[in-house]
Parts: sequence; C-alpha cells; structure tokens
Amino acid sequence: MNEVYILTVSSDFGITTRDLMTMYNYKECYINGQWQAVTNGQEVDVIQPSTEKVIGTITLSNEADVNLAVQAAKEAFVTFSKTSKQERIALLERIIEVYKGMFSKMARHISDEMGAPMNLAETAQAGSGLAHLEQALAALVKSPDEEKIGSSLLYHEPVGVCALITPWNWPINQIACKVGPAIAAGCTMVLKPSEIAPLSGYLFAQILDEAGVPAGVFNLINGDGLNVGAPLSSHVDIDMVSFTGSTRAGVAVAKAAADTVKRVSQELGGKSANIILDDVNLEKAISSGVQACMHNTGQSCNAPTRMLIPENLYEQAVIIAAKTADAVIVGDLDDKNTFIGPVISQMQFDKIQGLIQVAIDEGATLVAGGLGKPEGLEQGYYVKPTVFANVHNKMTIAQEEVFGPVLVLIPYTDEQNAIDIANDSLYGLSGYVASADKARALNVAKQMRTGMVHINGAWTDAAAPFGGYKQSGNGREWGEYGLEEFQEVKAVMLK
Ligand code: NAD
Repeated sequence: MNEVYILTVSSDFGITTRDLMTMYNYKECYINGQWQAVTNGQEVDVIQPSTEKVIGTITLSNEADVNLAVQAAKEAFVTFSKTSKQERIALLERIIEVYKGMFSKMARHISDEMGAPMNLAETAQAGSGLAHLEQALAALVKSPDEEKIGSSLLYHEPVGVCALITPWNWPINQIACKVGPAIAAGCTMVLKPSEIAPLSGYLFAQILDEAGVPAGVFNLINGDGLNVGAPLSSHVDIDMVSFTGSTRAGVAVAKAAADTVKRVSQELGGKSANIILDDVNLEKAISSGVQACMHNTGQSCNAPTRMLIPENLYEQAVIIAAKTADAVIVGDLDDKNTFIGPVISQMQFDKIQGLIQVAIDEGATLVAGGLGKPEGLEQGYYVKPTVFANVHNKMTIAQEEVFGPVLVLIPYTDEQNAIDIANDSLYGLSGYVASADKARALNVAKQMRTGMVHINGAWTDAAAPFGGYKQSGNGREWGEYGLEEFQEVKAVMLK
C-alpha cells in the first residue's frame, strides 16, 4: 500500500507536474480491519488515461477473498447492527474529518486513475465524496428512533451485509454515496470498486481504517465483474447489492441476486434529453447545454446528451453549439483552464470512435469534432468534443449511451413533440429543461419520465434523491432516500 514518487524527465528535458508521477503500489485487499495479501490473485497494471503509462499495480481477487470478506462482514454485523445512533454519528464525524485531511490526495488519485482535470478532481469529484458523507450524517441525525403508524410502532433497521459495486467515472462519488448511508444504517459491507479506476477506493479504505471503523464493518476487494462482482451478487450471505454501472452489468447482477431474493439497487445508464424551450436566451441555453454534456468528458450517467431544439431556432442553435464545442479546452490536466481530459481507456476511446462513425454512416451531420484525436494530443485517450446536427431520435447516436464528449442536436415541432422525443428512450435517468418561464419549465419537467429534472442548468443536489426510471435503474441514492435504501422497516403491532 505504498506510493512511490518518481521523477521522469520528458525527452526535451522539460519537466511538467504530470512528470512527477506517483507509482501506486496497491496490491492488498482490506478484510476484517487488516490489509492482507490477495489469495492467488492476479496482478494488473493501472493505466493513466492522460499518458497511457502504467502508474501502479493492483491485485485482482477471486471467490476465495469474496468468501473471506463476506464472512468478516457477516460476523461484524452481529455487533455493528446493534450500535447506537450516537455511536454511528461519532464514527461518521471521524470519517469526515479524516477525509477532509486527505482531500487533496484524493483529488490527485481520481485525476490519475480516470483522467479528470485537476480543477474538476479538486472540486466536484473529490467534493462529491465529502458531500455524500455529510449528507449521510445529516440523514442519520434526522432519522427517528421510532415512528408510529396506525396503532403500531415502526423501526428502521439495517438491511444486513451489503455488496457495493461501483464504476470508474465518478469513482469516489459512487463509493461515498453507498458507504456513508450503509454505515449510517448500521450495515456491514464489501466494496468492489472499478478495476479500471481502483486508486481512490483504496485511499478511501485507508481513510476508514484511520477513522477507526470497526474490523469487518467495511471490507475492500479489487477484482473484475466476472470473478468478484458475480460471486458477490449471488453470495448467500449478502442481503443487498448496491450496484452502479452499465445497464448490461446491472441486469447480470439482478439475475445473479434473484435466487437468494436480495435487495438490489441499480444506478445504470442514461441518454438524457435537454429540452430548450422557445423563450430562452438561445446563446446562453445552448452554450451551457453543450458544456453540461461535455463536463467530465461526457462520462456522466446523467449527462444531457440529446439537445432538443425548436425547429424555428434550429439553424441558429447549431452554429452556437458548434462554436461552443470548438472552444472547449481539452488537454493538460494540471492547467486550470482545461475543461476536459481524456476518456478512461483505449476500449472506451474505440467504442466512442465507432459510435461517431455509425452516426456519420446513418446520415447525421458532423458540425464539430469528429473522428481521431485532437491536434497535439496523440498520447492519451483524448476525444474531440463532437456535435452532430440533423439527428433524428431513432438514430443509434440518439439512442445509445456514448459515454464521451458527443452531443446530438434534434429539432422538434412543438412542446408535446419535445416531450415525446425526450421520453422515447430506454433510459429515464435525468431530464433538462431550459425556459425563461419557471411554471412552463415545471410543467414540462412533470411530463418527463425520468428520476431527476434539471431546470436552467441547475446542478445535482446531494440532499435530493438520485436515481432513474425505466432501464436507468431501481431505487434512489443520496441523502435521506439513500439512508432508507440501506434499511428494513419493522412494524410492531401492539394489542
Ligand atoms: P460496468 O458496468 O462495466 O462496471 C461497473 C462495475 O460493475 C465495475 O466494478 C465492474 O467490475 C462491475 N461488473 C461488471 N460486470 C459485472 C457482473 N457481471 N457482475 C457484477 N459486477 C460486474 O460500468 P463502467 O464502465 O464501470 O461505468 C460506466 C457505466 O456506469 C455507464 O453505463 C454509466 O451510465 C453507468 N453509471 C451510472 C450511474 C448512475 O448513477 N445511474 C452513475 C455512474 C455510472
């Protein structure tokens, strides 16, 4: 669990901050309060997306460690589930304090593992982890010890031993929004972070260890979906799987969990529509919509990737969107002005290139970006900020989640047509509406079949429930709803 700082000198002998590379030697797993060697594990490299260089090593676990970790969590549940609310409040407060002390280090880990520019890693990325811990604490403080309904009493009890499986795109956001409420509820857990971006999860385990989380309450094992995610999802001693990732893997998790009737919460993919109403300041609405789509290099499940524009404003909107995309600064992660970094991996780069090609083949008009890497960024998985016009909603590029900086512009005839297009998707995670009239925007928002709607570029709210309709998932995370997700409710009838 060491980090070694290595100074590499680039060929022209110029040294940039990124050349002061960290080598992350994160080969152990964390089970029952101990860092320990992985049983028959396979060592794999961690690749830095901005340089394509190896920056560390982890060890992939398998079923043997799954069993050890689940056993530790099961044993710890006996005592941790009986801790008082006050004890868990104190524990979360200590975790928050240690997290704050590691904040900059966390930001750097995230930037190194998934390619976020430092100005994003130091704000929204690392900040979301802290926000979720604070929200879990606030929800716990507010939660009633006992409630009355009819003539009965209600108790909210921990659901049990939880498997937490997370993706790479907002790595610590997703880890903290599961671990925080699970601890608040009195659950014990096994976390399997993304094997592609495993560094922040490892640091998070160090934070919990330093904060004094009792042995067995939190366990971390690295591994892939097949050898760790699947055995966790079907394990007889796991009561709940909280999963965030692709719809494909979310379906596999639910199927694997079905035989043992686990609770399964799924936060999956999205293809969110951004309805621009005809009363907006067009320049502002279009440019902020483009930026919201490209934010985090388009690698957000709730990114507004389909922009719906009134027919009579379409031509003008296309010009603004193309101009905004062309002005997006891609590149040096340590430059404060950089807006987007690379995408996560070669595989993801190839997938995005493939979808851009399909869009061209299906007749969409490329108005910004396109195939290949941005000029001067041949090394690293950089994608050109890309915008397609003349897209209709049945095209592949309008239906499939790209998970890269690619926006489509779709014209609509009237408000009802915009709502119909927005809802014509397998997904239902987020919706976006831009309008000068709040009542009008709310009226449209209510008709969108999505778990969340953002009006006029409003940001996500860590206190509000996060989750989707349709194939974007089941259940809600964050804040008070996130706490409920990790609780059972017991009704006690009194005579
Ligand atoms: P992914 O589904 O490939 O992997 C996510 C996690 O699941 C990883 O830890 C992976 O190892 C594990 N996994 C893969 N196959 C599994 C299986 N069969 N059983 C158990 N676990 C398995 O997703 P990704 O590429 O890491 O992340 C991108 C996806 O995540 C996108 O589709 C994105 O929309 C989605 N996402 C959704 C939300 C949300 O809250 N709705 C948030 C972030 C990301």
